[in-house]
Amino acid sequence: MPSAQSRRVAFMAAALLQAASLLSALPSRAASALAAWQLTNEGVLKLRTATGARLQAFFEAGDSRRGPRVWIDFPGELSRSRSLRGSGPVKEIRLGKPTPGSTRLVVEFAPGVELDPGRLKLVGTAVDRWSMAFEGLPTRGLRSIGEGDLTRSSGRWNSGISITPSKTPVDPSGLPSVPRGRYRVVIDPGHGGPDPGAVGIGGLRETDVVLDLSLQVAQLLEAKGVQVVLTRTSEIDVDLPPRVSLANRMRADAFLSIHANAISMSRPEVNGIETFYFSDPRSARLAAHVQQQVLNVSPGSPNRGVRQGRFFVIRRTTMPSALVETGFVTGRLDAPRLADQGHRRRLSLAIAAGILNYLRGQR
Ligand code: ZN
Repeated sequence: MPSAQSRRVAFMAAALLQAASLLSALPSRAASALAAWQLTNEGVLKLRTATGARLQAFFEAGDSRRGPRVWIDFPGELSRSRSLRGSGPVKEIRLGKPTPGSTRLVVEFAPGVELDPGRLKLVGTAVDRWSMAFEGLPTRGLRSIGEGDLTRSSGRWNSGISITPSKTPVDPSGLPSVPRGRYRVVIDPGHGGPDPGAVGIGGLRETDVVLDLSLQVAQLLEAKGVQVVLTRTSEIDVDLPPRVSLANRMRADAFLSIHANAISMSRPEVNGIETFYFSDPRSARLAAHVQQQVLNVSPGSPNRGVRQGRFFVIRRTTMPSALVETGFVTGRLDAPRLADQGHRRRLSLAIAAGILNYLRGQR
């Protein structure tokens, strides 16, 4: 789902805006998603947040009297506004609530400090970890400063559901077992036919990748006694509503839409795995299991988290449903892997294992 993805990535990854756009108001009782932060003496801002939290980063250039500022907005309300004195190139760090129900962390640099906003990126390094390196910042005199425990794991998905991570089997014999004949699963290979989905490095087409993965996942699940229906089995055009009505008619136990991600071809540094669900806890659990497994077989590819998304196929299905983005066809790291048969086999085993683990947990 390239278009919606690219917009969000641009928002999160590049801090280019001159002015803040305010977050939509959340219920003021929601606690701040910011759990801990640290600005290291090497000029790297590290954050721990609620799992799957959506952050927005902003930059404002300095002027003759004031240094540049970088700020990050978090959902959920900060309990207490405060400011901490910085050191070296950092003048001050402020924590505030720009609107009820939100949290803002501001790093104000000393006058004369220059930062290139094009080199600032807020990168998700785990489901609840973020990092932003202030490239080019003179770190002389900068002392590490922070609040809270960065190393602690929140251990929970943002739905409030925790899963026990498990290893991904290297061959089908290692897949978890479920009672044969009990479960029905719909696998939805994204796009198809005239809609190739995203097209990435070397002409790698999302539709080819996800159809191959989906056929393999279906075969692996069937071998475990799960009844599988695919929304398409070849390069044909299937609209979104029929995919959903098929799944709803079947009264499937789970629905998984399989996709590959994309962003501009000029952003090969953007790679990573993410899985979306719409709203209910069972869907969140399905998403969490799939995400965990796909991460297992994608070393080095950033964990972009289990997130809430409004994609049609997960919003309108009546059973637990999720949409996995198995990597970026435009990513320097992900694209060659997605083109590789061996990696696709590992991904298929991972996705099948995620679904089976989810089904086992529902008993
Ligand atoms: Zn897609």
